[in-house]
Amino acid sequence: MPILPLLPLQETGGSLQCVIIGAILGVLVLILLGLMAYQRYVSGKRPVQHLCDYCGHMVSVVSDCHHSPVKERFLHGVCTECKRECRLVCAKCKRPV
Ligand SMILES: [Zn+2]
Ligand SMILES: [Zn+2]
Repeated sequence: MPILPLLPLQETGGSLQCVIIGAILGVLVLILLGLMAYQRYVSGKRPVQHLCDYCGHMVSVVSDCHHSPVKERFLHGVCTECKRECRLVCAKCKRPV
C-alpha cells in the first residue's frame, strides 16, 4: 500500500529537531491556554469574597461609589450601578479591601 510520509526520511536530521521543538512549543502554548481557561473558569465560579482587614474575615465586596455589586476585574471592579470603574469595599463596613 502506498504511504506518503510527511517528512522524507532522508531529511529527518534537521527537520526532526524543528518538528520536536515545534511540538514542544505547541504543547507549552496548549498548557498555557488551558491554565488561562481554567483560571477564568475558576474565577467565574468562585463566589466574590475578599478578606476584610477590619472585619477580619472573608466578606463579599461592593463598589465604593454606589455600594452595589461589582463585576470584578484585576485589582479593581466595575460598578453595576453606574458602569464605571470603582474600588472594591467591604459589603459590611464599607472599607476598602
Ligand atoms: Zn469589613
Ligand atoms: Zn457606581
